[in-house]
Amino acid sequence: MRRRAFLAAAGALSVGGLSASIANSRLAVQTPPDPAYTILSGTKHETEVFVRNRGDGPTALVVGGMHGDEKSGYRAATAITRWQVSGGTLVVLPKANQAAIRANRREGENGDLNRKFPTGETPETELARAIWGVVSRHDPDVLLDLHRSIGIYGYHESSVGQVIWPTDAGRASDHAKRTAERLNDAVVPWSMPLHEFRLGGEITGSRPMLVHKFAGDLGRPGYIFETTAFLLDLGTRVRWTKRAAEELLSHHGIERRRNS
Ligand SMILES: [Zn+2]
Repeated sequence: MRRRAFLAAAGALSVGGLSASIANSRLAVQTPPDPAYTILSGTKHETEVFVRNRGDGPTALVVGGMHGDEKSGYRAATAITRWQVSGGTLVVLPKANQAAIRANRREGENGDLNRKFPTGETPETELARAIWGVVSRHDPDVLLDLHRSIGIYGYHESSVGQVIWPTDAGRASDHAKRTAERLNDAVVPWSMPLHEFRLGGEITGSRPMLVHKFAGDLGRPGYIFETTAFLLDLGTRVRWTKRAAEELLSHHGIERRRNS
């Protein structure tokens, strides 16, 4: 085959491959998630919970949208509602704070939702109590809370970007460290050293956050995941957030099935 003809054929092949992969991703998107239920139905906080049950095994709860302006967290969590898992139960609350999401603001009308979960006490708002009710109902072995910071931890003031914060339970710290290393190898370009994921200090229940309460009240592995808006577009943040969730869930025995 002459070079030009070969290139034309190769081009046609790659275009065919591309359209096949688009068709596959459309199929994946159209696969309906398992039945959901709704918390706080009929209120402005009404929001859905998705449950994938694949028999015996651990249960994980993934939460997005605690802060309404952190799109990567709730978009990644929404994509995760469609994942098929090889075993265990995957529960997803993709849009925890619907009112704040609609307003595209960090806080809802009752302030910062992720400051309403004191350890050893009842959560402080109706929405926080309903979210803790999801925890109580499913009794998860592991909890992931997906967030986005503005900047980079240790570089921009008050920023916590690109850090995975584990609870002080089980091997959570090990799993967070290995997940950070995996993400740095797999997705963070070598030319962006500031964006390398890092292990955060252990979460102990000392602050009134959802994952802190999970650590303080239940003593189980949980993680706050923080990507950053600094130099990353939304699509990249969503991809890296999904990848982090996939790695962390895998450490806890919940494997995402390919093509889901
Ligand atoms: Zn946040």
